[in-house]
Amino acid sequence: MQAHERKFRWQNAGGRRHATRRKPHELPPRPGEQVTVLCGQTITLIDDDFPELQRNQLIHPTCRECNRLWCADEGIPLPAALSKPDRAR
Ligand SMILES: [Zn+2]
Repeated sequence: MQAHERKFRWQNAGGRRHATRRKPHELPPRPGEQVTVLCGQTITLIDDDFPELQRNQLIHPTCRECNRLWCADEGIPLPAALSKPDRAR
């Protein structure tokens, strides 16, 4: 049984929840590895980016640029809140 294959998956990195492009037969990333996320940043993962390794339960805010690019790529209607520029930065 195979669920609908998404092109991307969410990855905590650099204090935000970014999207990364799925690759076939890819192993899950580990702390210390670098990931290139959908919005173009290359980020080194740390323990706090993995819920199972966190000392405190951190909530990473979703990267709006990754969310916007994901929606655009998959043709998902964009939530109204995301069509405005990200003022949090
Ligand atoms: Zn991002």
